[in-house]
Amino acid sequence: MEDKSRITGYTELVGLFAYPIRHSNSPAMQTELFRKAGINCIQLAFEVDNSTLKDAVQAIRALKMRGANVSMPNKTVVGQYLDKLSPIAQLVGSVNTIVNENGVLTGYCTDGIGYMKALQEEGIDVRGQKMTVVGAGGAATAIQIQAAMDGVAEIAIFNVKDAFYAAGEETVRKINEQTNCHAAIYDLNDHEALRREIADSFLLANATGLGMKPYEGVTWLPNVSYLRPDLIVTDTVYAPPMTRLLEMAREVGCRTINGHGMMVCQGEEAFRLWTEKRVDC
Ligand code: NAD
Repeated sequence: MEDKSRITGYTELVGLFAYPIRHSNSPAMQTELFRKAGINCIQLAFEVDNSTLKDAVQAIRALKMRGANVSMPNKTVVGQYLDKLSPIAQLVGSVNTIVNENGVLTGYCTDGIGYMKALQEEGIDVRGQKMTVVGAGGAATAIQIQAAMDGVAEIAIFNVKDAFYAAGEETVRKINEQTNCHAAIYDLNDHEALRREIADSFLLANATGLGMKPYEGVTWLPNVSYLRPDLIVTDTVYAPPMTRLLEMAREVGCRTINGHGMMVCQGEEAFRLWTEKRVDC
């Protein structure tokens, strides 16, 4: 039998375009998924930033690659170089997966799908419930849009009044206009609003970088009095696996979920798009 893990003249390639990227587990994870599925394809990481992104995308066509993953700082920029965007990628304004179908490149955003699938794998059903999500960047927007499309009833978004706040306002507008979910945005420094919105939420999510380097041990949550034991608390951060927010939530007795499941599930969703083969988280 042919050894599908052997590099041959037929070995196919998917890329990973980001900077910095050398630390990523994705090439090992995706290549292992291809091997397990018996597909002679590997993923390689390439240091690509906005200045070389257009050429890198053109290389997908020229080299007949199956596609690529895209990460920071390219997620919100790459759409302009593609032929098509999935409805979710269009709504989120961000692409993390490119699929090459006979030279036609389509951009997808699997971050929100990964987050929702990771919850589902934990037996958590947020449909019809209220979520409070802190963050208005790429990951937060993907989660908020996907959650609204999947049937979450209400989303309270909190963000500091930085450059991302306007993106949060835009997300609120899109959710309220295009889904049955009701969304609102508040200043993260409005602690009265934060306490009120968390109080009747089923789930509280951190989708900011607070908790990971250079903000390890840091959270925006003022203290544990904002939490209650039956609140589910999630974090998009997976390194470290236990952020300050999750530590505080554990103290109160909340169920906690870090970003590892989301990371694995968004990668598996990308793999499915390249191969149309479903794998379990
Ligand atoms: P981004 O740069 O697009 O957004 C950053 C967000 O953090 C913004 O909302 C910003 O306002 C907020 N922020 C920054 N500094 C802050 C501060 N001092 N106080 C409060 N808020 C602050 O980043 P992103 O791509 O959305 O990533 C956010 C986090 O999600 C990162 O930790 C990233 O590693 C993680 N992430 C995880 C996965 C996964 O699969 N688990 C996928 C994507 C992103």
